[in-house]
Amino acid sequence: MARYREAVCRLCRREGQKLFLKGQRCLTDKCAIEKRNFPPGQHGKSRRPKPQGYGIQLREKQKVRRLYQILENQFRNYFEKAASRKGVTGETLLLMLEQRLDNVVYRLGLATSRAEARQLVRHGHIEVSGRKVSIPSFHVVPGQEVAVREKSRKLEAIQRSLDLAGNRGVPPWLALDRENLKAQVVSVPKREDVNFPIQEQMIVELYSK
Ligand code: SF4
Repeated sequence: MARYREAVCRLCRREGQKLFLKGQRCLTDKCAIEKRNFPPGQHGKSRRPKPQGYGIQLREKQKVRRLYQILENQFRNYFEKAASRKGVTGETLLLMLEQRLDNVVYRLGLATSRAEARQLVRHGHIEVSGRKVSIPSFHVVPGQEVAVREKSRKLEAIQRSLDLAGNRGVPPWLALDRENLKAQVVSVPKREDVNFPIQEQMIVELYSK
């Protein structure tokens, strides 16, 4: 499957804020945003006009796409699905992204970043309602149980992530049983459960042109 393979810190620098793409490193003073908070590239430091209109919409879309680490075509597919559903399109889009299996694994604290969560899923360490699922975009729904597979429970990386994720907290739509490394999806996520500053209406305006 295609994925972004370049340096990820430049994505945060381009958006001018931490997107937490590198796990624990993001919380240390080695974070590139702490050291070089200006856009990457030769002209990164030169003064640029503040983005207006289209520029703001584009940056908002790129930010969300990069936060969830989704390529352009897949992101557009999400948008089209969200637009065809009942409800507020921007909100539906965000909630669909929240319900991706890789995001759920990250939000449970089983991985320190969404990239690491995606790897856990792809490498077959995760099961949903008793069946191995290795598709990071798998859509999780209420009533399902997300668990670390029996053979993977002793993985050091998972234990370490759980310890590090202590401060992040688990969103209320997921009930984590930390001892048994499993969680119940108790409801669909709500907009306020997306704890990152996002103006989703900007994305809707961009794609509606
Ligand atoms: Fe972004 Fe993390 Fe790199 Fe900081 S360390 S720039 S938050 S990916």
